[in-house]
Amino acid sequence: MKISSLQNLFQYKSFNPIKRIVNPPALFKTNKDTFEKFKPLMYKKAVSVDEGKEFARKNFYIYDISCKNVKDINQMNSCLCNIYNMNKGKIFFPHSIKVYKNKGQRFAGSYTDNVVFLNSSYSIPLTLSHEIAHLNHEKMSPNYLKMGKKNEMTASGIDDFSIFEKFMADKPSLKLIKKEISGYACSSPAEFTACTFESIMSGKKLSPEIWRLYKEYEGPNADILKQYFK
Ligand SMILES: [Zn+2]
Repeated sequence: MKISSLQNLFQYKSFNPIKRIVNPPALFKTNKDTFEKFKPLMYKKAVSVDEGKEFARKNFYIYDISCKNVKDINQMNSCLCNIYNMNKGKIFFPHSIKVYKNKGQRFAGSYTDNVVFLNSSYSIPLTLSHEIAHLNHEKMSPNYLKMGKKNEMTASGIDDFSIFEKFMADKPSLKLIKKEISGYACSSPAEFTACTFESIMSGKKLSPEIWRLYKEYEGPNADILKQYFK
């Protein structure tokens, strides 16, 4: 899910305006080099929140993390290392991650262009992978905006529902997606790709048919991730 307006963040009480980073050492801009010289990153468990924040800053250029406990930040860094390694460094990370706890809130997470919000009442690694998938899908796929749910597309002024309608009309694929991933993954091509990425990052092996659909709907790094499918 993407929040397009900061007004929608009313439930996030301690929200601070995003600090604009001047000339950040963008990981993805130097992607060609990063990709060619890719070396897997070793996760190191932090003993304090500050040490965890430093690890994220140094390795992922995530400058601003609001997180109160070391367990959460370690879960986050371990997940980020895994995403970085499985995608061979070819991945965008947000510049800020905000962790909050809200048992009553419907959403496990959300994102804006450079911030990922995580509700720690849900699984941090699963939600973080899911939101990073959306963020990268949006950056890498020119058709991303046409892959949302109908109400999301209408709200963004999109009236070309052709990709969504094709996805919804393909009943055998929806049946397979529901069986292998979840019912929620059937709600739109964007949710399908984010849920697929989330499953793959968590170590689940999905079928080659799911990979074919992931590639068709321009899921992030389909070719790099192919080896993690059955
Ligand atoms: Zn989503």
